[in-house]
Amino acid sequence: MLRESITKLKKSRFSLDTLLLRFWGVRGSIPTPGRSTLKHGGNTSCIEIRWKDTIIALDAGTGIRGLGAHLSREFRSRPIDLTLLLTHTHWDHIQGFPFFRPAYEAKNRIRVMGGRGAQRGIGGSLSDQMESPFFPVGLRDLPSAISIKPLPAGSFRIGEVTVSSIRVNHPGFCVGYRLSTPAGSVAYFPDNELARRLTPEQGKVVLSDEKLTRFLDGVDLLVMDTQYDRASYSRHVGWGHGCLDDVVELAGVARVGHLFLFHHDPEHGDAKIESMLRRARRQAAMRGDTLKISAACEGDSVRLKA
Ligand SMILES: [Zn+2]
Ligand SMILES: [Zn+2]
Repeated sequence: MLRESITKLKKSRFSLDTLLLRFWGVRGSIPTPGRSTLKHGGNTSCIEIRWKDTIIALDAGTGIRGLGAHLSREFRSRPIDLTLLLTHTHWDHIQGFPFFRPAYEAKNRIRVMGGRGAQRGIGGSLSDQMESPFFPVGLRDLPSAISIKPLPAGSFRIGEVTVSSIRVNHPGFCVGYRLSTPAGSVAYFPDNELARRLTPEQGKVVLSDEKLTRFLDGVDLLVMDTQYDRASYSRHVGWGHGCLDDVVELAGVARVGHLFLFHHDPEHGDAKIESMLRRARRQAAMRGDTLKISAACEGDSVRLKA
């Protein structure tokens, strides 16, 4: 039986038989600091997964700056071995990498993995954003050992974590991940539009809702794009982002344990996100789903204990 707890960052402690998920950036599209986003946070996509000594970062939005500072403090002179799994190379998922402190320390090893990025691949996209005149330090000048690898076909292992990926409905090439450990599983779909309302004119469907439901079946924690509510989604069909009501329904059908609303719209302050959360919980209750639902907050941790 799985036991789950959510804590604020300052109270967090890491234990070896526990799967830890920590939110470092939960915002979509562009960072949104300010009074209206204090509760949920303004940094763009990045979450941390820890299982025993395996460290995985999912995406490198501006939230990865905080993760890097945290890791440097934790490890001090000890080497950090980390895998960065990228869903895609839109700016809000790679923009924080030049500010990731462990990349500037020669003792550290960083393995970057992802699907195809832009046209020149993941490496080209990461290095282009660090070219002069955009940034003073080039990717190749970073002292840490950075390797860039394509995602293998099918599942693969990082330590004891089994990783599967699937291509999603989003402009360009974008994937979602499912990570499984002996303590439980996490799925991460920061940018994804469900297929159900897409028409051929609005873009090719690469992932059907049926296939996605099978991929997510029974996952303990699902972090998923719910950028739009029903009203704003109707004006953005085909943009590649999630509609709250549809995602809640899909999570219920897929028997998800706990859904985290994610990739919050830059125009949505804390009050709007809270009202979307209330609506999502009402909807799940009306359906009779046992699904737990939270809105992802920067700094929150979730733990799964076997
Ligand atoms: Zn995004
Ligand atoms: Zn995107």
